[in-house]
Amino acid sequence: MTKDTFYLTTPLYYTNSTPHVGHAYSTIAADILARYHRVTGSGRTHFLTGTDEHGPKVADAAAAAGKAPKEFVDEVVQRWQTAWRELDISYDQFIRTTDPEHEAAVQAIFVRLRDQGDIVPGTYQGWYCRNDETFWPETKLVEGRCPNPECGRPVEWISEDAWFFRLSRYRDVLVDHYNAYPDWVRPASAYNEMASLLRGGLEDLCVSRASVTWGIPIPGESKTIYVWFDAICNYITAAGFPHDMERFARLWPADVHLIGKEILRFHTIIWPALLIALDLPLPRLVFANGWITMEGQKISKSLGNVVRPADLTERFGVDGVRYALFAQAPFGVDFSFSEESLTRRYNADLANDLGNLVQRVLAMLGRYRKGVVPAATSGDELNVAFAGTVQRVRAALDDLDFRGALAAIWERVGALNLYVEQAKPWAIAKDGDDALLDETLYNLCEGIRWIAALVYPFMPRTAAAIWQALGQTGTPGQMWETTLHWGGLAAGTQTSLPPVLFPRRESGAGVA
Ligand SMILES: [Zn+2]
Repeated sequence: MTKDTFYLTTPLYYTNSTPHVGHAYSTIAADILARYHRVTGSGRTHFLTGTDEHGPKVADAAAAAGKAPKEFVDEVVQRWQTAWRELDISYDQFIRTTDPEHEAAVQAIFVRLRDQGDIVPGTYQGWYCRNDETFWPETKLVEGRCPNPECGRPVEWISEDAWFFRLSRYRDVLVDHYNAYPDWVRPASAYNEMASLLRGGLEDLCVSRASVTWGIPIPGESKTIYVWFDAICNYITAAGFPHDMERFARLWPADVHLIGKEILRFHTIIWPALLIALDLPLPRLVFANGWITMEGQKISKSLGNVVRPADLTERFGVDGVRYALFAQAPFGVDFSFSEESLTRRYNADLANDLGNLVQRVLAMLGRYRKGVVPAATSGDELNVAFAGTVQRVRAALDDLDFRGALAAIWERVGALNLYVEQAKPWAIAKDGDDALLDETLYNLCEGIRWIAALVYPFMPRTAAAIWQALGQTGTPGQMWETTLHWGGLAAGTQTSLPPVLFPRRESGAGVA
């Protein structure tokens, strides 16, 4: 079996945190890509997400809640699954690092690396921040405390017998990979940052913890496997490594790992080194999305400015949020987010441009043709323009340029609105030119059918509502090759007026 599947992943989300708009951003990005590949790909698509459930922070949170760790994570994982369901996230697999298959696979990976001399014994000591699960060098501490500006908690001195992954021996081969594939880490700022970190040299990585009990046990020892080692292996264990190599061969290497830039080092230095040690090919792309800031501050639990996705979807609808997050800024850069900017974009692009277009066209079809699609015409320049738009949307999404794809689609939305203004169907009806009115109405209806198919990866609910209003069967999530032919809307189809797709919103009711 050889690779035949587009395989994309989100970060594993930490069960000690609560889903916020930053997590939603990464996950919706993955969902858009997954849906896009399902309607355009030549093979299968596999979209993986999940939760990272081990580590001392989770154990502490469980203890604080008066629960056993497993009982605690069994409850918390539902928060994540609910949040993704509410945002229409169409993942194919949800992995939990407490899944027995994952635990067994991580143990097998650990033992293999130890047997081949990539994991070796040593002594681990250093200043440890329990909250960040990070060792900090003495020189980095701020007045003897954790230097993470969002943390600042006391650190502990830890000294223990430990196992080390020999990361340092992979520096040169990683440098070669970085030189050979300058696009494998994006955006370029992330690539440059990690390439320069590599130039500075690498230290071996401690991959065991003697003091942590809530983790995957190292076979035959009382220590557990470092939570990051455990978690990052999910991308291959979920794909079947090492127990189902037939499945694994169809999925691996991953086509895209979508991550937040705060976990770049793990994904672009430690992770590829582990894969090379396992003699596995590297992921084709690691893409670090930027941070969403509010009033210039990163959204984080410790800053207390978390925006729950549900706070936004209650006001703007699921599709309003899915659209606005990606129309706002290029993928990969930090961007500022406010209720006011969201409201403005929602009203302008969705309520006015798209929502009104659909209502207007279907209302005119109802008024002049009893809602029945007139006979198809050969089409005109609209047809050609739409074909060009599909090419632009595909090129943009193949490049993870979500905003560029939306801009291309919205050019067509704007062109259809202009077409209504210039063709003036109401004036044609008054003049009694039936052939011209048929042609005009047909072009407009066929245009919004194409818009529905094109917005489907971004806004599946809106696409479905337009699809249904146009009397189409099935869902708009069908192969574009099949649906996107000008003239595909059959004459005689009975249409109906959809509910208002995007009710206008006023600013000022408060998001958080
Ligand atoms: Zn800390």
